[in-house]
Amino acid sequence: MNHNVVTDRPTFVTHLECSISGERYDADRLHGLSRAGRPLLVRYDLAAVRARLSRDEVETRQTDMWRWRELLPVRGTENIVSLGEIETPLIPIPASGGPRVLVKDEGRLPTGSFKARGLVMAVAMARELGVKRIAMPTNGNAGAALAAYASRCGIETIVFCPEDTPEVNVREIAMQGARVWRVNGLIDDCGAIVGKGAAEGHWFDFSTLKEPYRIEGKKTMGLELAAQLGWRLPDAIFYPTGGGTGLIGMWKAFDELEQLGWIGPERPRMYAVQASGCAPIVRAFEAGEEHAERWEDAHTVAAGIRVPRAVGDFLILRAVRESGGKALAVGDPAIMQAVEDCARREGLLLCPEGGATLAAYREALKTGEVDETEQVVLFNCATGLKYPMPPAPDTLDRHAEIDFAAL
Ligand SMILES: *Cc1c(COP(=O)(O)O)cnc(C)c1O
Repeated sequence: MNHNVVTDRPTFVTHLECSISGERYDADRLHGLSRAGRPLLVRYDLAAVRARLSRDEVETRQTDMWRWRELLPVRGTENIVSLGEIETPLIPIPASGGPRVLVKDEGRLPTGSFKARGLVMAVAMARELGVKRIAMPTNGNAGAALAAYASRCGIETIVFCPEDTPEVNVREIAMQGARVWRVNGLIDDCGAIVGKGAAEGHWFDFSTLKEPYRIEGKKTMGLELAAQLGWRLPDAIFYPTGGGTGLIGMWKAFDELEQLGWIGPERPRMYAVQASGCAPIVRAFEAGEEHAERWEDAHTVAAGIRVPRAVGDFLILRAVRESGGKALAVGDPAIMQAVEDCARREGLLLCPEGGATLAAYREALKTGEVDETEQVVLFNCATGLKYPMPPAPDTLDRHAEIDFAAL
């Protein structure tokens, strides 16, 4: 039952467009990448949306993801399989971040990560377009979200993850009805298997940005942020960047909001945060390149951003540059320190990828890239509960004498 999905709102999709050549594609057919081998972007009749819908009306609606229905691609509402995609809160972290630092805590979404935003949309579209079997490479969270939504509507899923993917992710994927395989390689090696199987007609390829609709789901982070901050945007956004779907999606959302007349031309500086053990976007940014080469021997505790090669590399780099932001790399020790500080001082348990954004923010404060008076939003993209924590080995013998002062 999709009781929380509003049913009486049309979609305004006009067509899809190649992100590199601008070539147009029919909206109501199944597509992967464009003929140029690049991501397809969904385009809407924003003038019609503008005539039909106001900011004020949006504000009267329930604050879940489906509040943005007119800016989303699903035509038949009956195709949406919802698990309750709530608006995620902005949590101040004054003690470990700064006076104007907010964490957008995406860990509260179904399946415990913001991958739910992308996959709820992509699965609805797959269903709308008649897909029966989906395969995906994942570092964990995307596979879990895919498994959940696809199983819920009877679509078969086959998921491939690097063999050292966090154990909880592999098990939750299996538990939620996918067939999951541990592969002796990285996520792009898994992607190659998915691509080969798709080319041979075994399944539809759901790799990041290789189908057009995940980005539309992730876009809602940007829409939400604008609404939550009273239709203005923060000075800077720090985003943990793997495939970059969320960063690209938010950048697209801001553009659409401006075309609707709901925000002005001001934009936040976008900081793409990577781990120093896997920083292809940072390397390309610093070298002034438009595309990023594969990062060899990728390693980091932040599994979600261990992505050696991103098919949307040029879109990430473009958004970062246009915004006046940067691509920043942080080491694993700084990441773990940030996670620990935030947990101990704020009571907010970040995932390592979220910790990376806090570590990068702290570094940016030091170098003068940002200052404390600026409003900054950090993205915590999954619940910290999915990741290993330091042991807590102390035990107490209830039969022995207890030294209460020492507890
Ligand atoms: C997938 C993931 C990311 C990276 O998101 P992209 O939009 O693909 O760059 C960051 N953090 C977590 C926890 C993730 O699962």
